[in-house]
Amino acid sequence: MAGPVFRFAPSPTGRLHRGHAFSALMSWRACRAAKGAFRLRIEDIDRVRCRPEFEAGILEDLAWLGVDWDGPVLRQSGRGAAYEAALARLAEGGLAYRCFRTRREVADAMTRAPHGDEVVFFGERLPEQEEAARLAAGEAFAWRLDVRAAAERSGPLSFLETGAGPAGETGRQITQTDSAGDIVLARRDIGVAYHLAVVVDDAFQEVTTVVRGCDLFAATHVQRLLQVLLGLPEPVYRHHRLLVGPDGKRYAKRDRAETLQALRELGVSPDRLIAELDLDGDH
Ligand code: GLU
Repeated sequence: MAGPVFRFAPSPTGRLHRGHAFSALMSWRACRAAKGAFRLRIEDIDRVRCRPEFEAGILEDLAWLGVDWDGPVLRQSGRGAAYEAALARLAEGGLAYRCFRTRREVADAMTRAPHGDEVVFFGERLPEQEEAARLAAGEAFAWRLDVRAAAERSGPLSFLETGAGPAGETGRQITQTDSAGDIVLARRDIGVAYHLAVVVDDAFQEVTTVVRGCDLFAATHVQRLLQVLLGLPEPVYRHHRLLVGPDGKRYAKRDRAETLQALRELGVSPDRLIAELDLDGDH
C-alpha cells in the first residue's frame, strides 16, 4: 500500500508569517515521522490578490525553514480544466445552480445556519426561461451548491479528526452538511472558489492527511460533502491550534514585522524560530 501523503497549501497573497511556519512544520514533521510524501500546492486562484513574488517568497521561506517537498509544485492557476469538470459534474447532477443575486441581495437573504451560529445563504435555481433570459442579457452570476439537495443525495456523512477543532472536537465528526449554506463554487471574477479547488486538488495530489489550522475546521464539513458528491477519497484531518502573538491575536498577513523574511533579516535563525513555535505543545 502507498504511504501517507501530507501537504502544505499556502495562498501567495503575502509573505509567510509565524503562523504559516507553524502550520507548514506541523504538517511536514508529521509527514516525515510517518515516512510519508509531502506535497506543496500554491493556492493562487485569486487573480487579484496573488502575486508571483509572494510565491517566490514562499519557496524561499520554506527552504530557510528546512521544509522540503516531493514531486512538482502544484499551482491552482493551472488547474482550471479539472475544476470545470468537477463543477460540470455537480451541475449535471442537479446539485449546482446559477445564482444571479447581487452581493446586497445575498446579504439581505442570509439566515442563521441550521447547526451553529453562522449566518448563511440558501438560494434557489431560477425557472428555466428566466435563467435563459438573464444569461442572454449577460447578467453576472455565481455557481452555487444546492447544499440541501446535496445533503439529501449524500445521506449522513462524517470525517475523522485526529487533531482538534476550535472547541476541542476530536474523533469521528458527524458532518453538518448544510451548515455552510449554498456556498459559491465558481464566479466570473474568481473562477473556481476555494472549497471546490481544495477537494479536487487534495484528491489529485492523493493527500491522505490534511494538517491545517483549526480556522478551517468548519470548512471541512462542506469539503467532506463535496468529496462524496464528486466520488473523491476521504482524507483524515488534523486541525491544529492557531498561533497567537504577544497581544493574544492570531498572526495575520497584515503584521508585516512578523513575516519570516523580516525575522530572517533581524538575524533570527530557523532553529530559534522553531524552538519558539513550540510545535510539540500542540494536541
Ligand atoms: N490556502 C489556504 C490558506 O492559505 C489553506 C487551505 C487548506 O489548507 O485547505 O489559508
